[in-house]
Amino acid sequence: MSSPPAMSSSAKVVVIGAGIAGLASAATLTQAGFEHVQVLEAMCRPGGRINSTRPFGPDVIEMGANWIHGQEGNPVFSLAKRHGLLSRNDCSSVKCQLDSFTPCDYFFREDGALVSQAGVEQVCDLFSKLMSRAFNDELEGKFHCKNLGQYLDEAFADSPVASSFEDAVKVFEWCKRNACTDEASSSLYEVSALQLKEYTSLEGGYYNSLGPGGYQAVVDVLLKILPPGALLCDRPVTHIQWGLDSQAKGSFCPVKVLCEDGQEFEADHVIVTSSLGFLKERASAMFEPALPEDKIGAIERLGFGTVDKIFLRFSERFWPEDCAGIQLVWEEGLEDRSVYCMLSEGRAWLESWYKKICGFDIVAHHPTVLCAWITGREAQYMETLQEEEVGRVCVRLLRSFTGWSVPEPTQILFSTWWSNPYVKGSYTFIPYGMNGVREHQALAAPLPNSTVCTEKKVPLSTAQ
Ligand SMILES: Cc1cc2nc3c(=O)[nH]c(=O)nc-3n(C[C@H](O)[C@H](O)[C@H](O)COP(=O)(O)OP(=O)(O)OC[C@H]3O[C@@H](n4cnc5c(N)ncnc54)[C@H](O)[C@@H]3O)c2cc1C
Repeated sequence: MSSPPAMSSSAKVVVIGAGIAGLASAATLTQAGFEHVQVLEAMCRPGGRINSTRPFGPDVIEMGANWIHGQEGNPVFSLAKRHGLLSRNDCSSVKCQLDSFTPCDYFFREDGALVSQAGVEQVCDLFSKLMSRAFNDELEGKFHCKNLGQYLDEAFADSPVASSFEDAVKVFEWCKRNACTDEASSSLYEVSALQLKEYTSLEGGYYNSLGPGGYQAVVDVLLKILPPGALLCDRPVTHIQWGLDSQAKGSFCPVKVLCEDGQEFEADHVIVTSSLGFLKERASAMFEPALPEDKIGAIERLGFGTVDKIFLRFSERFWPEDCAGIQLVWEEGLEDRSVYCMLSEGRAWLESWYKKICGFDIVAHHPTVLCAWITGREAQYMETLQEEEVGRVCVRLLRSFTGWSVPEPTQILFSTWWSNPYVKGSYTFIPYGMNGVREHQALAAPLPNSTVCTEKKVPLSTAQ
């Protein structure tokens, strides 16, 4: 007996989104012999949150993803390695290119004083040990009901390191502020401590960098697998009608995908790879019938934070050769518990949005460029400002913290992942008090499931 088209390689599959998830699914289906795979991408370019640009000359600036995290069992690492896309140095970060000395971060206090390197190392070591405990499921019972910020504060206060030198608490605040870039959260006080253990760390280097093609080279490998015409850019999908009565129409294709420009695509299967940020804003209006309660609930409950990068290009380097980054240690930073509580309500935090900037790191292959990272609502606010304004604030910070003679930047550039209507943020985190595994499973489960549409079998998955 032959399979219905919906189950065979003659099935029509529409993939929504040409980020790495959408392109990888389309490439996998194509390699498995599926001949009717159509990828619809809202933006004018494929890649999604991978965006390798060249604003400062031939070398890449990554506005989005930068590193491949982990090696063993990491499909992105395998693909990059197989195609010779990894950095020739094949090592972690920007620090690898400078082999004649060991570069280090300079930690400056608000009053311009340098924080002792030994003290910084002591606090940073403790911070990473405390984080590892959470990732390795080694949290003491008393911390199970705490958010990540509370756990870290309490564990730090219990340690002799907290009182070992004058600036220990301030450097610890910097560590928490910096960790918000990994968690993509406005604050670690919003993140679950207990759920970190649910992430799997892949063995091998954590900061594997890519060669001259940047992350885009990985995207290009997937694009080459697709047949001509399989990818359509500038095609925002506005509606997905699923569970249609295909038998009444005498055909399979029980899903109809409608684009903003009025174009329609019929499909046997639809794979949705829109970000969680996009789904938070649009999922309730996009699907007909509406998504089931558990999926909508997962979309609402999981966190999707904003992480942005600010690039400053100067006519010449003004920092010492051994400097890997200029880090800002505030007297009272935004991840200071009392400051967080004070600013958690109202709009007062707008006044001090720039305090969320962790520091300014040097950038591989760009000897006169610095990159600042900023997260959360402060990043979202930064996106609303003019480039000149952001540049002015950054230069003010650099001058006042270091006391160095900092020239005006020749170019200023920042990412706008929150303002991008098809992304609406940067990446997912598990908020405090939530069962992240259950929510992720609900989000990833194919539809229809038994509670929604029992008669037809139309797999439709939502990713993040
Ligand atoms: C600043 C930043 C730094 C990062 N750094 C790293 C890093 O170093 N290492 C790492 O591994 N990861 C990093 N990430 C995360 C990584 O970029 C993402 O996890 C990954 O790119 C997500 O791929 P995706 O295909 O799932 O989603 P996306 O890349 O978001 O792709 C989804 C695509 O769907 C499109 N789309 C959405 N809705 C519609 C619609 N209705 N119709 C048509 N198209 C639609 C979007 O335009 C987009 O192109 C970073 C992300 C950011 C923002």
